[in-house]
Amino acid sequence: MSKEKGSLSIHSENIFPIIKKWLYSDHDIFVRELISNASDAITKLKQLASMNEISLSTSTGYKIDVILDEAAKTITFSDNGIGMTDEEIKKYINQIAFSGAEDFIAQYKDKSDKDQIIGHFGLGFYSAFMVAEHVEIHTLSYKEGAKPALWRCDGGTEFELEAGTRQDRGTEITLYIGEEGISFLNEYTLKSTIKKYCSFMPYEIFLTVIGKEPEKDQDGNAIIEEPKALNTTQPLYTKSPSDCSDEDYKAFYRNTFNDFKEPLFWIHLNMDYPFNLKGILYFPKLNTEFDTIEGQIKLYNSQVFVADNIKEVIPEFLLLLKGVIDCPDLPLNVSRSFLQNDGFVKKISNYISKKVADKLVGLSKTEKETFEGFWEDISPFIKFGGLKDEKFYDLVKDIYLYKTLDNTFKTLDEYLESIKEKHENKVFYVSDPIQQAQYIKLFKDHDLDAVILSHGIDSAFISMLESKREGVSFSRIDADLNEHLTEASDTEDDKKVEKQEALKTLFEKSLHLENMKLKLENMKTDSVASMVVLSEESRRMQDMMRMYGMQGLDPNMFKTETTLILNQKHPLVKHLQDDSIADEALKEMICQQLYDLAMISHSPLSPEAMTLFIERSQKLMLKLI
Ligand code: ADP
Repeated sequence: MSKEKGSLSIHSENIFPIIKKWLYSDHDIFVRELISNASDAITKLKQLASMNEISLSTSTGYKIDVILDEAAKTITFSDNGIGMTDEEIKKYINQIAFSGAEDFIAQYKDKSDKDQIIGHFGLGFYSAFMVAEHVEIHTLSYKEGAKPALWRCDGGTEFELEAGTRQDRGTEITLYIGEEGISFLNEYTLKSTIKKYCSFMPYEIFLTVIGKEPEKDQDGNAIIEEPKALNTTQPLYTKSPSDCSDEDYKAFYRNTFNDFKEPLFWIHLNMDYPFNLKGILYFPKLNTEFDTIEGQIKLYNSQVFVADNIKEVIPEFLLLLKGVIDCPDLPLNVSRSFLQNDGFVKKISNYISKKVADKLVGLSKTEKETFEGFWEDISPFIKFGGLKDEKFYDLVKDIYLYKTLDNTFKTLDEYLESIKEKHENKVFYVSDPIQQAQYIKLFKDHDLDAVILSHGIDSAFISMLESKREGVSFSRIDADLNEHLTEASDTEDDKKVEKQEALKTLFEKSLHLENMKLKLENMKTDSVASMVVLSEESRRMQDMMRMYGMQGLDPNMFKTETTLILNQKHPLVKHLQDDSIADEALKEMICQQLYDLAMISHSPLSPEAMTLFIERSQKLMLKLI
């Protein structure tokens, strides 16, 4: 073959500046593209062999070699796939894959949207020019009698094509790295880039570093190591679930996410129809309820990594999980805004969320105890899912669990049934079991029940439930004193009214509280002297203000409904009421102390209030001596 020079097709003038632009975002993508091409070339060869189109003398040992030569400033990608004839080079390389390039230019020439998913454009090969100033292709086609070819291009619009020297079937692409790609002339960087994109590629990938000194043993002899592939050619998700053991799933999780906490459980997605989708979703274990939930869903296209956390494909609430999804049918050659509006992508997203719902519902039925064991960890995901996705909510609405004061789990219907006699459709809940311990005790003493809803997501979840379940209302355990905790007061004694007024005056004088209501109650218990209640509505308003950072507006705006309740049954209150304490200062201190004690079991004291409380407690103790 005579040496041929020429220009890349007309569109190429536009291509190079665009390719260079990628530098600002997905700088490392050339590794993915060149290895994907190598992998495709092997797959094509295997397909031809399986259709008996060709007989292969060397049908095994498919592999991809990446060779780094720091001194020569080259990176070479070599495969033993299908190879190319010079005609094919002209067709597939020179013409820059026709329509793909035209589409690309039409869509993106004025945009520098860094989020767009590039590649799969029939342009992948040219990503080499993001890092190389000169590229060479040595190739030999599988075709009988094919002659080796050599192609060269220096990133301009000129190329050279001539007879090559390659002896073995396959393709070798050498990048002469320029300034922009210097960082890739480093074993660690190159290796981690290969691992990032190609960990699950279907053919073994080896990295060789030219001139690297071998490790030596104690005697100074070089240790000869077997070359080790950087990837797993058959990632677990490609296997049938029946062939995977629990240990396999856990190991895959550890290796893929570098997370050494065991996942709680997982869902293996595996379908061929109506679209191809495989993957494993893991529910990670949270250490504490305050752990930030940071998921990671890696999206693959035929075992090639595309990107993390693409929310157009993965339902948002599932991004809190960890997992891999491989969907070869995804139209990844289009922008994210297209993905957003694409019906097919929506279907995938719906399918994934339905699968997750099915699995959870199944688990709650067949392995009730395990499910209850997981509940605290997985409930934030499921609640978030319900909040974000109505269809998901409808599927899982009957499996939400509520932990009662005696630590059993009930569904909402079971719970409502159990409290029907006492307070129909009214669910009392505890948002902080430590803070609200006194109220919990009171409830337990009077055979009342409440549910624990202590996660940050619960306030939004409660509001949603109230809108979905007509007639059902939620009230925090310290929102009011319900009728089961009090008795009718003894009103015969006329004087009592005066006494009550006197007591109120005394408290007002001692406490100087502007926004506090005072209420005297006959509680059934005589072990609680004072309590503070804050109506559910005011508290929700306060929570909302806090959430939106509005507390600076007017701190007292929503405090009006805080009520201090004094229990007339308690001896301390009785003493105050009977005016049997002569020492005025002591009387005042008792009022203040009763107030602080009530506050402590309601919400944390301010630092100033806490200091005063401690000082006063000590003074009161001195009076005992
Ligand atoms: P795409 O891979 O999306 O088609 P590329 O620009 O990456 O686009 O490659 C263009 C074409 O060049 C490929 O479709 C293939 O026919 C050919 N090609 C690229 N790399 C190789 C290779 N390593 N072996 C054989 N053919 C290749």
